[in-house]
Amino acid sequence: MAGKVMFQEFAGSKIWNHFKCSVCGKLAECNSCKKVLKCEGGSTKGLHNHLKSQHQIDLLKRSNIEESAISHTCAVRKLDYYMNDASLPAVLARMTACDGLSFNIFTTSMDLRKPLAALGLSLPRSVVGIRDQVLKYGQQLSQDITRNLSIIKSKGQYFSLTLDEWTSLQNKRYLNINIHGIGFFWNLGLVRIKGRFSSEACSKIISLKLKEFGIEFETDVISITTQTGVQ
Ligand SMILES: [Zn+2]
Repeated sequence: MAGKVMFQEFAGSKIWNHFKCSVCGKLAECNSCKKVLKCEGGSTKGLHNHLKSQHQIDLLKRSNIEESAISHTCAVRKLDYYMNDASLPAVLARMTACDGLSFNIFTTSMDLRKPLAALGLSLPRSVVGIRDQVLKYGQQLSQDITRNLSIIKSKGQYFSLTLDEWTSLQNKRYLNINIHGIGFFWNLGLVRIKGRFSSEACSKIISLKLKEFGIEFETDVISITTQTGVQ
């Protein structure tokens, strides 16, 4: 029977990645085992059953549906991705930002250079070279966040912010800005606060920071939570 029926690729739901549909629309041919099944009236129940029983593929499983929903809405990378990134810029960024090592120590300590070299990471010899790797990685992350925010924004979603003020040991003041959406948040980094920190100054700082990431403070943000001493 299959020899006489013409089958064609059919885009639509995920099931058609696994079957070809007959021109008449009443039969489907399995890509894996070439078995021909009925799919009359547009019902794909039999096709799902076949995939599940014959090929251990369950497209209706909840985790699969959620996974595909996420991958279609945005290619958002989770923090785990960056923590497991084994590239040289990622390793240097983690060791400086998370572990508090100086750029300098990577050029002077043989006990650091040797094991990193053994991992196939070839360290720059100068402090500037190390710093450039870390800054480059920071820029790459900013681009990742900007791209993700733009995808989320294009879906018509809005954002919320959480703010916190921090004063360093050298008595320099900073504002930390986190951006939140449905099921995620990202840190947009610290902004130095100079002079009197009025609510106008605060609003200006936020607006400029958000612009760096393609977000408009006036139109894209619906709420802010803060515990800073903004006057
Ligand atoms: Zn099959």
